[in-house]
Amino acid sequence: MIGVLLFTLIAFVLSIMIVFLNHVLFKRRRKVDIIEQMLPGYNCGMCGFGSCLGMAVKLLSDYSLINNCKICKNKDEIIKYLGDDKNEKK
Ligand code: SF4
Repeated sequence: MIGVLLFTLIAFVLSIMIVFLNHVLFKRRRKVDIIEQMLPGYNCGMCGFGSCLGMAVKLLSDYSLINNCKICKNKDEIIKYLGDDKNEKK
């Protein structure tokens, strides 16, 4: 009986952990996709991150890196999106 209860408890805790990790990882991936859509999409690599996807990933941690992309016309929108997102976390 104890074994069944213990197994159920472990399964419950693991399922909660999986749901939480999935939520965190999915949310981050969704943000990267949105930022990538806002970038020019030339994948020229001139920013130093290899592609617009690489730039989008880096922008999550430091949005001043947007200035590495000389051809982006949506800089203000991207900074606003990232700023709003940071404010949302507080
Ligand atoms: S410089 Fe701009 S367009 Fe080129 S890969 Fe980097 S983010 Fe994309």
